[in-house]
Amino acid sequence: MVRWLLVAVLAGVLVSSCSKKSQDSEARKEEMVKLLEEAKTKARGEEVKKLSCVSNLKQVYTALNMYASYYKGCFPQNATVANWLIPSKKTWHCPMDGEYKILAYGHRSRLIRDPVGTIIAICPNEHGTGLLNVLFADGHVASVDADVVRRSLENRSGGRLPVLK
Ligand SMILES: [Zn+2]
Repeated sequence: MVRWLLVAVLAGVLVSSCSKKSQDSEARKEEMVKLLEEAKTKARGEEVKKLSCVSNLKQVYTALNMYASYYKGCFPQNATVANWLIPSKKTWHCPMDGEYKILAYGHRSRLIRDPVGTIIAICPNEHGTGLLNVLFADGHVASVDADVVRRSLENRSGGRLPVLK
């Protein structure tokens, strides 16, 4: 009788232990799902900011190019003139933070030999690991390795606009 009672108690302990394990595993699963949802929401937010940044840079291109088409191929001399073209400060800023580095100021668009590879503006923030949004003189925006951008900036000669290599 005592033996049967012992078996029954042991069985009860095992069942309760299994059900506790199952509850723990459910809680862990719920926590994982919650973390995944948070990561997805964050990733979506970053993607939206990246796309908004690309859109801003394209508007910057339109403004700079419009100015150049009126002033014999000369880009605006500085930010004050450029801001007059697009008064909204949001356009000249990355949605993450910080103003775009506009390299085209004071340059002549007609002297650009390789518009597809010539950098005219750069976002100060990395969108994705080690990637910078870069505006090129032909109006396209691309995500470029930050080290490649830095090298292009260092290797430009005679105050010319940097060309991506
Ligand atoms: Zn940006």
